[in-house]
Amino acid sequence: MSALGPPRVGLSACLRGEPVRWDGDHRRHDFLVASLGPHLEWVALCPEAEIGLGVPREPIQLVRTESGPRLYSVRSHHDLTERMRDWATARLAGLGDLDGFVLKHRSPSCGITGARVSPSLEELREDGPCERGGRGVFAEVLLRERPEIAVAEEPDLESRDGRQRFVERVFAARRLRARLARGAEPADLVRFVDGHAARVLARAGGPEALAELAGLARRGDGSRLRIAFAAALARPPAAGAGDPTADPRDPAERAALAVC
Ligand code: SF4
Repeated sequence: MSALGPPRVGLSACLRGEPVRWDGDHRRHDFLVASLGPHLEWVALCPEAEIGLGVPREPIQLVRTESGPRLYSVRSHHDLTERMRDWATARLAGLGDLDGFVLKHRSPSCGITGARVSPSLEELREDGPCERGGRGVFAEVLLRERPEIAVAEEPDLESRDGRQRFVERVFAARRLRARLARGAEPADLVRFVDGHAARVLARAGGPEALAELAGLARRGDGSRLRIAFAAALARPPAAGAGDPTADPRDPAERAALAVC
């Protein structure tokens, strides 16, 4: 294991196999738990259970309103939006350092994409009409509050490339966090960016992203550097780019890539 310690990564608890879904079931993800688990420190949480909805519980769903999507219980039509937002903001503030997060696709709480959205409160019922374009309320708060970490949903990890890209983002975020925690000077940050240039250039828009990162490093702006670095590595691969993860210098990252 690296001297840095493993990356610290949040996880929707049902993906770790915890029986916390509305119907008491789970969605254990074998790659995350069995293969990647030994290389990371997981921080699992279930927003719906933790705001006190219980297990099992009434299902919840997003509803389109004039002020944007809101989160409702499907049968009793209670508006849970502010309760979830307030809890998520406080929970994330208390979680400490993170390098990544894996979220459950399509969940009205955890999903970055694909959650069911009812066209109106009047039409909200389990078999009612819906579209699939929603973002979960916890996911929305996470993306706003933690833009410096690598976030993915479990379908992003279906292909070997997708799994390797996520591992690369998480370990890179961990290295920069450690460098900043040691009080890195601008010269150290410039060296860090130079050392990751090939990875940034392998992404779409790489040259522009690299120029921005270099400027932030020269100014010693660590907070914005973390955010811009995470965003740069989250971009899709550039056309014709090689595989920058082929031979990472960090042995812990190499070991994690090997299980992908
Ligand atoms: S998707 Fe999120 S809220 Fe739903 S069961 Fe899993 S962890 Fe809990």
